[in-house]
Amino acid sequence: MGKVLIIGAGGVSGVTVHKCAQNSDVFKEIVLASRTKSKCDAIAAQLKRPVKTAQVDADNVPELVALIKKEKPGLVLNVALPYQDLHIMDACLETGVNYLDTANYEPPETAKFEYSWQWAYHERFKKAGIMALLGSGFDPGVTSVFCTYIQKHCLDEIHEIDIIDCNAGSHGQPFATNFNPEINIREITAKGRYWENGKWIETASLSVKQEFTMPEGLGSLNIYLMYHEELESIAKHIPHLKRARFWMSFGDSYLKHLEVLRNVGMTRIDEVDYNGHKIVPLKFLKALLPDPASLGSLTKGKTCIGCKVKGIKDGKEKNVYVYNICDHEECYKEVQSQAISYTTGVPAMIGAKLMMTGVWKGQGVFNMEQFDPDPFMAELNRCGLPWKVVTF
Ligand code: NDP
Repeated sequence: MGKVLIIGAGGVSGVTVHKCAQNSDVFKEIVLASRTKSKCDAIAAQLKRPVKTAQVDADNVPELVALIKKEKPGLVLNVALPYQDLHIMDACLETGVNYLDTANYEPPETAKFEYSWQWAYHERFKKAGIMALLGSGFDPGVTSVFCTYIQKHCLDEIHEIDIIDCNAGSHGQPFATNFNPEINIREITAKGRYWENGKWIETASLSVKQEFTMPEGLGSLNIYLMYHEELESIAKHIPHLKRARFWMSFGDSYLKHLEVLRNVGMTRIDEVDYNGHKIVPLKFLKALLPDPASLGSLTKGKTCIGCKVKGIKDGKEKNVYVYNICDHEECYKEVQSQAISYTTGVPAMIGAKLMMTGVWKGQGVFNMEQFDPDPFMAELNRCGLPWKVVTF
């Protein structure tokens, strides 16, 4: 059907490339470009289908424009870092090509992420007759689709949403992050924030916790309240909502390491002088930590991510929990990756597929909540992320 240009060659990208290759009826040609071409070549070498690779600095708009003009893709799929979002959107505008990402823009110098910067592109995308789909990973991404599915099929009104992201797996490393360490640590050390009765309420970072018992005998974990970007688009697009919160599980060892790293200043994102060189401690820490893409063969256990939603059906209070359980080792067998990258890379491919086939279409900048959840939910079942619905 068409050609996709995938930008970024990290953990998530590896999965997305595998999954696009499995859907060859839609993704007839795959071009993979990133800052380090050898990483693209390493991913391409895992596949039987040919994947064309290229070097590109996605912070350099003219370089991106030249690549897009040369390859003429139907869609640019951004799985580089949030810092590149606006540059890649600029290049898509200049070349008239559709855009998709999995994480919202974040300025490198401030640990803050919100949709305002990307929503500001809506009129320009609309005028250019092209579409941008924001946040098509798992969280953000599938979590929003779960909410719109519940809204469409299970409840008359949604009142409370708790998104719960649990990783009951282990990679056996003393301290490692499951996706890009810099982005991950910026997110986790930020203040907590949730939406209640039309207002944002802030909490100190990782200061609110509860125990959560996962379904299917996976056991119980401590989950911590965090701010996460889909809360912003959910609050905007789900009517009648009174409260929306996001929770993530962390083990005690992870939190102990993080506390020490914070206390000694290793999570700082400002430049410090070291022997006449300017270094950013968090970037230096990233260089020391395991590459998340290398954790695939080491990680065992399962993830469980879902949305617990309370609302009203036929005048009565009803609770609905929709979740996916994903097995790290099964993911590795299929695409040589752990489940965190898998649960992100698969929905990125699905969003791209729905755009390339015109099932999800529009002109402008869109979030996941703005589209019919049914085709996405069907693809999740087909593509390795089956889900279940529990009502109580
Ligand atoms: P990685 O760090 O493993 O990979 C990022 C890739 O982007 C690397 O290949 C890197 O190149 C490349 N890159 C960085 N800067 C540039 C640039 N200027 N030009 C070209 N390429 C560049 O990250 P992950 O794969 O773990 O994460 C990818 C994205 O997925 C992130 O935005 C992350 O926030 C998002 N994500 C979303 C989730 C969701 O559920 N929605 C969950 C997990 C992640 P190099 O290797 O040369 O450094």
